[in-house]
Amino acid sequence: MTDTLQEAPTAVKPINHWIGGMPVAGKSGRSGPVYNPATGRQTGAVDFASAEEVAEAVAAAKAAFPGWRATSLSRRAEILFRVRELFHQHREDIAGFLTAEHGKVRSDALGEVARGLEIVEFACGIPHLLKGGYTEQASTGIDVYSIRQPLGVVGGITPFNFPAMVPMWMFAPAIACGNTFVLKPSEKDPSASVYLAQLLHEAGVPDGVFNVVHGDKVAVDALLEHPDVTAISFVGSTPVARYIYTTATSHGKRCQALAGAKNHMVVLPDADIDMAADAAVSAGYGSAGERCMAISMVVAVGHAAEPLIEAIKERIPKIKVGPGDEAGVEMGPLITREHRDRVVSYIENAPAEGAKVLVDGREGTNGEGFFVNPTLIDETKPGMKCYDDEIFGPVLGITRVDTYDEALKLVNESPFGNGTAIFTRDGGVARQFQFDAQSGMVGVNVPIPVPVAYYSFGGWKNSLFGDLHIYGPEGISFYTRGKVVTSRWPDPATSQVDLGFPQTR
Ligand code: NAD
Repeated sequence: MTDTLQEAPTAVKPINHWIGGMPVAGKSGRSGPVYNPATGRQTGAVDFASAEEVAEAVAAAKAAFPGWRATSLSRRAEILFRVRELFHQHREDIAGFLTAEHGKVRSDALGEVARGLEIVEFACGIPHLLKGGYTEQASTGIDVYSIRQPLGVVGGITPFNFPAMVPMWMFAPAIACGNTFVLKPSEKDPSASVYLAQLLHEAGVPDGVFNVVHGDKVAVDALLEHPDVTAISFVGSTPVARYIYTTATSHGKRCQALAGAKNHMVVLPDADIDMAADAAVSAGYGSAGERCMAISMVVAVGHAAEPLIEAIKERIPKIKVGPGDEAGVEMGPLITREHRDRVVSYIENAPAEGAKVLVDGREGTNGEGFFVNPTLIDETKPGMKCYDDEIFGPVLGITRVDTYDEALKLVNESPFGNGTAIFTRDGGVARQFQFDAQSGMVGVNVPIPVPVAYYSFGGWKNSLFGDLHIYGPEGISFYTRGKVVTSRWPDPATSQVDLGFPQTR
């Protein structure tokens, strides 16, 4: 007994699908390893679904759709309120899965749950969100009104970096609108999604309304190609997003594919340097830089550069890096060994590219966990265009320019357009930046401008493929289609044949 207990922490747990309201063990014979990134040890083996297993989940969702779409809005809202309560009540447990499999520190994991909960809270207002318009007497005796109806079975494919929040961005509005859902979460940290499925079940979400299938490209392709899946929401890297968008739309599906980023933070000479340094360090190294809204490039204008570099350098050694479940730790490991090696190679190659490593995060990270320490790279070089690649690690670049116009050019030349920020005390320049920046989300003295739940989240250019942003009002539009009803209740005695095109009178 004692031996079993001692061995338990290193045991590899199976992580199963969730189909039709219950856990379902994989039958494909394929699975993938799940690691604790802080120790480098494998903790789980996640089932990889075959196309047939994905089809089972889609069939369960399809069977649940007629009943769920007919469920009244007040009943759906009631269930969503219960979902909100259960997620909130179990936030520590959800956060525990995030720290164990993603590696993010406890406070950050709780923050992720809180931001996801905001979307569930927004979805609780579904009766109001689905209100249509009504025009009385559009023509004589004729009324016209609009309604929004659910699409059917919708699919969500999510990234490793927000294993709880990004699924909530999708399934909360989707099921609130009356759709049924099949989630394919990241295979790197899949446990949170199964736990959320259990809580949805406990809250009274009917069986089949929410399903989880794990896996890789095989499962994703099966969702993209399945004729009963009407729409796909995707969040992940740019090459995969482009593929998802092209494949889903070529199969006649509606698609929103949110993608990678390279977010610039412009610091003007009049900015409060300490405040800007705090923001750059928090937004550059928070969650080990594995956020699509992380700041990866600070653009220092004029004489802001030297004091800003000094202020950032001063702050870096104070950041406590370590396992996410250890008290006081502020930054955890990267997601996989391969990803750590990729980030290390960026630092290694920086000098050859003409950049100067000011703080090298490779030092002291030779343990078993997937750690890289906060790194600062001066990427200023006459004529050098800032690296276009997304690094997705705790690597902050800084580049110096002389004018606001040059800073704006760097921001707008980026192939990405997710988020950007400006730090200044000049309201006029900030307003001009908001006007000029080619980016879907702009922060004014706010480094990570993730919109609150009642606005929508999304980037421009290579940061989003599709028309509609995610959650908020655009999320409701994405998960519904409009219908306009033209109605009259005439006296049958006035009826006559009229072959002309209907005109308003
Ligand atoms: P990823 O693109 O590797 O994976 C995302 C999902 O796609 C996963 O579920 C994965 O299993 C699946 N997938 C991976 N390769 C595939 C392939 N070849 N064919 C089909 N499916 C495939 O992304 P990731 O590494 O999990 O997440 C990090 C990326 O996500 C970063 O680029 C980050 O910027 C981006 N991201 C963007 C946003 C946003 O809102 N724009 C938010 C979070 C993360």
